[in-house]
Amino acid sequence: MNITIVGGGLAAATAAAELRERGYDGDVVIYAAEDHLPYERPPLSKAVLLGEKDIDSAIVHDEGWYAAHRVRLERGTKVTTIDPAAHTLRAEPVAGGASTEHSYDRLLLATGATARHFDVADRVADPIYLRTVEDNARLRAALRPDAHVVIVGAGWIGLEVASAARQKGAEVIVYERGDLPLVGVLGPEVARLFADLHRAHGVDLRLGTAVDEAALADADVVVVGIGAIPTAELAEQGGIDVDNGVLVDEQLRTSAPDVWAIGDVANQQHPVLGRRIRVEHWDTAIEQAKVAARNLMGEEEPYTHLPYFFTDQYDLGMEYFGSVGPEGYDRVDIDGDTDVAHGGAFRAYWVKDGTVRAAMHANDWDSSDAVRDSVGTAR
Ligand SMILES: Cc1cc2nc3c(=O)[nH]c(=O)nc-3n(C[C@H](O)[C@H](O)[C@H](O)COP(=O)(O)OP(=O)(O)OC[C@H]3O[C@@H](n4cnc5c(N)ncnc54)[C@H](O)[C@@H]3O)c2cc1C
Repeated sequence: MNITIVGGGLAAATAAAELRERGYDGDVVIYAAEDHLPYERPPLSKAVLLGEKDIDSAIVHDEGWYAAHRVRLERGTKVTTIDPAAHTLRAEPVAGGASTEHSYDRLLLATGATARHFDVADRVADPIYLRTVEDNARLRAALRPDAHVVIVGAGWIGLEVASAARQKGAEVIVYERGDLPLVGVLGPEVARLFADLHRAHGVDLRLGTAVDEAALADADVVVVGIGAIPTAELAEQGGIDVDNGVLVDEQLRTSAPDVWAIGDVANQQHPVLGRRIRVEHWDTAIEQAKVAARNLMGEEEPYTHLPYFFTDQYDLGMEYFGSVGPEGYDRVDIDGDTDVAHGGAFRAYWVKDGTVRAAMHANDWDSSDAVRDSVGTAR
């Protein structure tokens, strides 16, 4: 049997490893558009950006692993079309060259997401959209002391870049259209603490402000972090159902026979949350990859794991478990010291109808398991 994986990010590399770990002995092929060994992206806005770690530390498996595990990694090769009925695909080198047709028995789509572009910045500033090793190298070179850095978007990536830039001694302005950073995920009670954290570190955080060309004019470097779009064109071309990502069922199967999808591109019908969710986080890429690999081998396992993510900004480390969802929350309970700019540690619980829907801690690693286990319990 041939199992083919389209992607070449964390999800793809993890799925290949799980197949071998579970004893699958057939062919495994990964088509990876980037000309790199699959790597993890979180360090691109943290330790690698700060120069504390080398990019090699972010690689999922070293080169020898692929040969040793008989995984054929076709780097720098993009899959351009798939034909689920015929079980075939066409692939071609990104650098140019002829496309070739290949057959598969089972296909896993792990094509990830692509940074959302901002036309004002594209017109005037050659902005950096931090997604790849190359973007990271460009930004690292630009983060000099006294550089004038303008960041558009106070989401996770924008704020992590702000943190790294301040630690490098750069002047940082962050523009955010909303009234608070991260308010969509955290709600105003906790989002406010992130605004305070960045201001305490000297970031000029301009909230409720739209960005025009003048705002970008004096910047040495412009970084845009306004979200990502699932890379679902391939699935769409292949006639697979797509709506904010590739639609997958509880077992991560797409609408096409013998095709599964995972990671940033997958919009799953989540059996525990009881609704669709597409999660753009490191942990989901790993955990979905493991379940999908087993299902590619014939299991019928639902993916039940709840979302989890982490961030590091200055001396603050946080972990967040669960998902509040579109209905929102009735209240958020916060325990501890919220002065995170001065080493405070706290826990927060988002409660709806007497049940914890999501919970986080900041700087309180000993409480990590208890905070995670609180999700779904009465409060
Ligand atoms: C700067 C940055 C920081 C982050 N920090 C955090 C964090 O702190 N915590 C956290 O939880 N998450 C974080 N994330 C998110 C996390 O990295 C992603 O959720 C994860 O990378 C998703 O993995 P993936 O394999 O699904 O997709 P991706 O990593 O996007 O990989 C998909 C790969 O598929 C390739 N591809 C696409 N189409 C094709 C095709 N047709 N043919 C061949 N190849 C194709 C792409 O080129 C890409 O290399 C961060 C992301 C970024 C960019």
